[in-house]
Amino acid sequence: MGVKRTKADQMATLIDEASAINERYEKAKAEDIIAHAAHELFPRRMAIVSSFGAESAVLLHLVASVDPSIPVLFLDTLKLFGETVRYRSRLQHVLGLEDVRVIGPRKRDLEAVDPDGTLSMRDPDACCDVRKTEPLSRALAGFDCWATGRKRHQTTFRGEMPILEDDDGAYKLNPLANWTRDDVWAHFERHNLPMHPLVKDGFHSIGCMPCTSKVVDESDSRSGRWAGQAKTECGIHIKKTGD
Ligand code: SF4
Repeated sequence: MGVKRTKADQMATLIDEASAINERYEKAKAEDIIAHAAHELFPRRMAIVSSFGAESAVLLHLVASVDPSIPVLFLDTLKLFGETVRYRSRLQHVLGLEDVRVIGPRKRDLEAVDPDGTLSMRDPDACCDVRKTEPLSRALAGFDCWATGRKRHQTTFRGEMPILEDDDGAYKLNPLANWTRDDVWAHFERHNLPMHPLVKDGFHSIGCMPCTSKVVDESDSRSGRWAGQAKTECGIHIKKTGD
């Protein structure tokens, strides 16, 4: 009879194997990475985190083709565009996603730090903390891995990210890390995926309404996020260890 390995054992082994896994993933197709992580590495312990933004349909389409029952967490900060909320319903239906979970900030937390809803203008980092980081941390407590649609070309900060990334005791999976913007739009066309309605109006990266504008620089899809500020990430992608 085999010795039953604890979850702690499995996670410890994974730390040792992460660089070999990443080497394999660099040459693998995104759907194979998702399937391997969801079924072999983290069975029933992996979630997808999606903003249902401009490029999100690609990752969600790949996830649906692998296993539509993989949980998808949609973070509703209560500051989103109405178009995003409606797009979420449409995409969920079109792709046949079976387990989309809407998560968001607690009422009592908002009443304490953002009672008039203007925190994003005074202190965007604190606003992202209460509306994004805290709710996501709570929602991810039951998972050992979360997958995102981040790509290396998007920001300097993301330029070096591994596909399987240690994330303070859990893992983050970036199966589209190597994808370019052309790869993304080719995938939309090939599979006739519905586009977020704001893309045609010049929004290429879509987050909360107060912090999203049309792209400032056409070659930089995230130039419309926190435009005019040094901020490029909302905090959910910055490790507690500081990079
Ligand atoms: S993106 Fe803007 S509105 Fe949304 S949580 Fe962050 S600071 Fe607040």
